[in-house]
Amino acid sequence: MVTIKENISLKNLSTIKTGGAAKYFVICKNERDIIDALQHANARSLPVTVLGGGSNSLISDSGVDGLVLKVELDGYTLSESGLAVAAAGVSWDFFVAEMCRQSMSGIESLSGIPGLVGATPIQNVGAYGQEVSETIQSVRAINRTNFQTKIFSNKDCQFAYRNSRFKSQEKDQWIVTEVSFQLNPKTEPTPKYEELKRAVAIDPRWHQSDREEKILLLREHVLKIRSGKGMVLDPSDQDSVSLGSFFMNPIVDDWMKHLIEAKATELNTSTSPVFHKAGDNLWKASAAWLIENSGIKKGFTLGAAKISSKHVLAITNPGDATTSDILKLQLYVEDAVDKMFKVRLEREPLFLGRP
Ligand SMILES: Cc1cc2nc3c(=O)[nH]c(=O)nc-3n(C[C@H](O)[C@H](O)[C@H](O)COP(=O)(O)OP(=O)(O)OC[C@H]3O[C@@H](n4cnc5c(N)ncnc54)[C@H](O)[C@@H]3O)c2cc1C
Repeated sequence: MVTIKENISLKNLSTIKTGGAAKYFVICKNERDIIDALQHANARSLPVTVLGGGSNSLISDSGVDGLVLKVELDGYTLSESGLAVAAAGVSWDFFVAEMCRQSMSGIESLSGIPGLVGATPIQNVGAYGQEVSETIQSVRAINRTNFQTKIFSNKDCQFAYRNSRFKSQEKDQWIVTEVSFQLNPKTEPTPKYEELKRAVAIDPRWHQSDREEKILLLREHVLKIRSGKGMVLDPSDQDSVSLGSFFMNPIVDDWMKHLIEAKATELNTSTSPVFHKAGDNLWKASAAWLIENSGIKKGFTLGAAKISSKHVLAITNPGDATTSDILKLQLYVEDAVDKMFKVRLEREPLFLGRP
């Protein structure tokens, strides 16, 4: 039987360290615990909020009504063919490190991302040219209403840029308990992201390495690049008290792309706007470029909230910021970009609790 606690502060369970308390709180270590907790909540008509590592969750200052269910299912298996099955509560970066160490390629560029395995399919976690949708074979989840378990194939998950069925049309309907990844025991790892390509190209070790060493080297370089941007959780780095990238790169059509380019020419910006092809007539614009060229610089502070001094996309809590302070800075950035480029940025982290 699970133990339900009352009035538990969630502040230290979110990596940005803001937010109020959970009215009820439960830790679940296996699927039986999850079903017991769901039944408990159901019998009392309590809404259920799922929490993993809290690295993509902005928690309301007023706290979270109902039951907060913390996922702590542990363990993973790995077969010789590269099928890795990890429980939802396994630390993502521990899992990536283990796979790299065991010479499996496919997720090495996702090194250093905080949080747990179970949250990775929710927003199709991605970085440095890789996304989990490229390797996820299936996702096992429990339905929050009828407590039935279902296995979703990769296609069923409807992955998109920082999105999936679990974050869009079926938001808050499933609790992910296990994720299966088809990794590769044979292919050479290849850096896809420009910054990463440049970093390995000038590393003499890369050119003398075999496949196994290259996987480990890629992980090393990704961690180094991420640390330089405050994107690895590090107690000695105030800039990492954040939720990672706070804004998603907006998808714009040809016409909007043209307007942004025209504005950049008018402003005589020092660099050109950055776009990546995202479909027919669609482009993924760099949110970081848009923010910087709207006049917001690294280290910008509004009240108690601050833009990271290393990365303009991250909002940080330098000390005693509240969620309300973070939201005010979010709005300030969105308005500045909107005013300058007529593009409305969208927040990446999910908001948990009372609005
Ligand atoms: C320093 C830093 C760097 C980051 N870099 C990146 C990056 O490079 N790329 C990237 O994509 N993200 C990045 N992030 C964001 C974050 O780490 C990822 O989104 C991560 O997958 C969130 O995992 P979590 O366990 O902390 O999720 P949480 O914040 O606990 O939860 C996120 C959402 O998923 C839901 N959820 C969590 N677990 C489950 C589950 N088992 N079943 C159902 N729903 C669940 C929650 O209800 C919530 O809505 C970064 C964050 C930080 C702080």
